[in-house]
Amino acid sequence: MALRIIIGLALTAVAAALAGRRMWWLLRLGRSGQPAPERVAAVRAHPARDVGIQAAEVIGQRKLLQWSVPGVAHALTFWGFIVLVLTIIEVYGDLFSRRFAIPVIGHWVVAGFAEDLFAAGVLAGIVTFAVIRLREDPGREGRASRFAGSHTGAAWLVLLGIFLVVATLLVYRGAQINTGVFPYPHGAFASQVAGHWLAPLGLAANKVLETVFVLAQIAVILAFGVFVTYSKHLHIALAPVNVLFSRRPDGLGGLQPMRSGGVVLDFEEADPDADVFGRGKIEDFTWKGLLDMATCTECGRCQSQCPAWATGKPLSPKMLIMDLRDHALAKAPWLLAGSDEERAALPDHVQKEAARPLVGDAAAGGVIDPEVLWACTNCGACVQECPVDIEHIDHITDMRRHQVLIESSFPVEASSMLKNLEAKGNPWGMAEASRLDWAGGLGFEVPVVDGTIGGDVEYLFWVGCAGALEDRAKKTTQAIATLLHAAGVRFAVLGPAETCTGDPARRIGNEFVYSMLAQQNIATLNDAGVKTIVASCPHCFNTIANEYPQLGGTYEVIHHTQLLSRLVAEGRLTPLTPVQEKITYHDPCFLGRHNKVYSAPRDIMAHVPGVQSQEMHRCKERGFCCGAGGARMWMEERTGKRINTERIDEALTTDPDTISTACPYCLVMLGDAIAAKKTTGEAKETLEVVDVAQLLARSVQPPATKD
Ligand code: SF4
Ligand code: SF4
Repeated sequence: MALRIIIGLALTAVAAALAGRRMWWLLRLGRSGQPAPERVAAVRAHPARDVGIQAAEVIGQRKLLQWSVPGVAHALTFWGFIVLVLTIIEVYGDLFSRRFAIPVIGHWVVAGFAEDLFAAGVLAGIVTFAVIRLREDPGREGRASRFAGSHTGAAWLVLLGIFLVVATLLVYRGAQINTGVFPYPHGAFASQVAGHWLAPLGLAANKVLETVFVLAQIAVILAFGVFVTYSKHLHIALAPVNVLFSRRPDGLGGLQPMRSGGVVLDFEEADPDADVFGRGKIEDFTWKGLLDMATCTECGRCQSQCPAWATGKPLSPKMLIMDLRDHALAKAPWLLAGSDEERAALPDHVQKEAARPLVGDAAAGGVIDPEVLWACTNCGACVQECPVDIEHIDHITDMRRHQVLIESSFPVEASSMLKNLEAKGNPWGMAEASRLDWAGGLGFEVPVVDGTIGGDVEYLFWVGCAGALEDRAKKTTQAIATLLHAAGVRFAVLGPAETCTGDPARRIGNEFVYSMLAQQNIATLNDAGVKTIVASCPHCFNTIANEYPQLGGTYEVIHHTQLLSRLVAEGRLTPLTPVQEKITYHDPCFLGRHNKVYSAPRDIMAHVPGVQSQEMHRCKERGFCCGAGGARMWMEERTGKRINTERIDEALTTDPDTISTACPYCLVMLGDAIAAKKTTGEAKETLEVVDVAQLLARSVQPPATKD
């Protein structure tokens, strides 16, 4: 008895020392990051909300269960390990008394049954994981596997470790039954099966097995615990912390302002030599950024949904996070060194790691290749899918900010867009006066705000640069204005006083140009006394609703599809003329994933008589990007398949007469892809892409206004 106490406690002490040392080192590394006081303040401000989120995301496994089979397998394993804490208590109690029973629970058969049920659940979970990993073996499936690029060897070791935890437990409990010291008289069905198998060995052998396997159980649990602190399975400990401090409601919607030392940068006072401008080195990331990196489970859910990865680009959101994490760990001795002398004494490989540029091509030894950084469309699919709430877009944007503002390094073709924004307030460099050209010939006068908005005006109609200046998008603008006029909605536009919201500048990383444009617009809107805005472009909608409040511009903002669907529901617009077409709707990322507007455009289509809606395979939360977001609209797409072509290929599988959407960027991108498909005969000549507002206008205004 004394010997097994000594062995059990000695193993525990060694494991606790190894794991504790590692966790202390990781904690010091995390603390070396920039401060993020806003994360702590948010948790302090909404503790009840955060407990609810923890309950849903961590205990309820909300995001994981969206992937039915692997989600259930993970939930079984997770919940199993929570219940199996009882068996760990019993094992340690058994070290001191073979007849140990947990106080209060005692010999309650329900506890014994629950322990065995969840042990069996864990086994079922890991068998499922093993089958999934074999079926999605990256060696065979290549890029199509979500595990491509993950550390698969470590994952198999973890599955083996979990199996050994359950296997040693059941052998130990079976032997306990045979030696008459098992706490539960009934209910522990799996342990009884093990006991049945071991019974023929006799009492003496079972006594030996009981002692050997109680120690084996402790050793396996401890070894697993230590391994976890050195592997991607660190997420077991870190995921609840990362979820707790992730931004709310999620990492989608608006971008965060640039912060240095935890304080929002004021460009008039900021000093590029003293302040942190974006992320130019790994130590520029906040502790929350470093926590994101350490929490990644390498599950590849993000990678499987990324349009850049799906079309052959080098960007994988998973590998981006892994590369940052590997670099942070390799550079850690340099980061944690207390002085320049200590740093100078570090081994060569650490010095080399410390000298690597954060963003740079392979020849420069960069951690993140520039092509990876600029391939992101900000579609949000990665953030949406990540079960541990990692904020990929924030990290990508922060690295872009440093590249643009400090290094002046970004795709050259985007420079004219930035120059046009600065000089003309729109990405195409068109004259301000042309912002009202779309309003000519509508048959009614579009009111333009003159100084202040009239008290009788219900909505300021934010037209947006594309809606005002791009020929295809102008048709959407005209349809919206016509519908609002027909419904008797009192609206006005800013006309030449409207400038770009700054979205393309902000998404490419030029926070300076963004804040200049945003402040100009906010001054115009505030001076005009605007309270309620309807926006036709999801990018404008997102920027004004989610980002302008950071600069003092707070308005009630809705998207045109939300207003139009409400007008239809209220009977103020009545679609009567049938549109006998099969239509598939493409979810714009900045309307859907970023702002959760999925039903309004579909409701409009459902009210148009004759329309047969057909969803694409990837729709709603899993919608596939058109390729224009993240300022990609103004960059060349040189690698892999074009994202808009991939989307149109998927749309064509529904054999549509028309493709509908609710975003001028999507309209242009999908329209271009359709035009290319027509030249090859892959799309019928009559196929077109329209905004749902155009569809509604065709039905509301007989005869249909076919564009
Ligand atoms: S935002 Fe979209 S394109 Fe960018 S990394 Fe995530 S999934 Fe890929
Ligand atoms: S970033 Fe999130 S979704 Fe992607 S591999 Fe890591 S844990 Fe999975």
